[in-house]
Amino acid sequence: MTKIILPTSMEGKTVLIAGAAGFVPSTLAEHYLNLGAKVIGLDNFITGSQSNIDLLSKNKNFEFHKTNVYEALPDFKNQKIDYIMSMASPASPIDFAIIPIEIMRVNSEGTLKLLELAREKGARFLEASTSEVYGDPEIHPQTEDYVGHVNPIGPRSCYDESKRFAEAMTMSFHHKYKVDTRIVRIFNTYGPRMRPNDGRVIPNFITQAMSGADLTVYGDGTQTRSFCYSTDLVAAIHNVLMSDDVTPFNCGNPDEYTMLETAELIIKILGSKSKIKHLPLPKDDPKRRRPNIGKLQAVSDYAPLVKFEDGIRATAEYFKSL
Ligand code: NAD
Ligand code: UDP
Repeated sequence: MTKIILPTSMEGKTVLIAGAAGFVPSTLAEHYLNLGAKVIGLDNFITGSQSNIDLLSKNKNFEFHKTNVYEALPDFKNQKIDYIMSMASPASPIDFAIIPIEIMRVNSEGTLKLLELAREKGARFLEASTSEVYGDPEIHPQTEDYVGHVNPIGPRSCYDESKRFAEAMTMSFHHKYKVDTRIVRIFNTYGPRMRPNDGRVIPNFITQAMSGADLTVYGDGTQTRSFCYSTDLVAAIHNVLMSDDVTPFNCGNPDEYTMLETAELIIKILGSKSKIKHLPLPKDDPKRRRPNIGKLQAVSDYAPLVKFEDGIRATAEYFKSL
């Protein structure tokens, strides 16, 4: 495999980002705008924020279309598109019970529409997959060759299985139509631009710690996650986009914490007087999760840079500013 060479500028390139009003996709959009690219954002705001679009719209190279990507895409007839980033999907477990059909449709029909556009335009396509394709993993840390342990009818299946479908559809377009595809498997990521009421663990713990409320640890808190700060994730995704490898790459930060440690650390970092309370563990909650990022590191200079303490402070500052 060849070592990844990152472009110093993307002037003259057009990047289409589906889900641009969301947390990770808007951070990615900013990255490409900073590199001089034109960015076209698509979003229907099901979990995204207008404020993320307002921020990006300050740059004259950003164009936005309010669109549901599994219904009809805008007419891009005369528009050159170099890269298509398939990032539109709700990702918080609290949404899995509320909007499961929307989640399944965007990851299946939405991905299909974006792949068809990539084929038509000759664009490179990147699918934002997830560590959830490994389910409740039986190997630790997870490597890309592990095929997963997913419950197809469980409460998380609308997300896990539709992302597995999206990966399969991406590879099928690559094999059948020679579309130039990439797949990233994103592990737990947090940072500014997340919604404080998103429901995932880091925004929950930070908002609870800031208001003095009890931090809600689900179960006994021995389950683990490995948290990546958003700008570190964007750097990893950018490396994969610029690679020449169509097979999936894990993207994340291998620093692993139990949820009890996470709660205690956030209380300490934010100097909070909050206590911890335990609530029931949701069904099928993965017990351990940590990426092996050796595959990406073998072909790039990628390394996560932001320390947990600094990332938590920056996210708390963002929540305070809202
Ligand atoms: P997010 O909810 O903030 O962003 C997703 C965006 O997609 C939202 O703005 C939402 O409105 C939009 N969207 C959803 N359905 C749509 C549709 N049908 N049409 C148009 N727009 C639609 O979530 P995020 O955490 O930023 O996740 C972004 C992507 O990264 C998702 O594909 C997610 O599955 C993936 N991912 C994220 C994480 C993480 O830890 N943040 C982990 C694994 C994978
Ligand atoms: N969790 C928790 N308290 C919360 C929210 C989540 O203890 O208020 C736990 C959850 O049970 C899981 C972990 O934190 O073990 C990560 O949950 P999250 O919803 O952020 O993402 P997941 O990795 O489960 O998709």
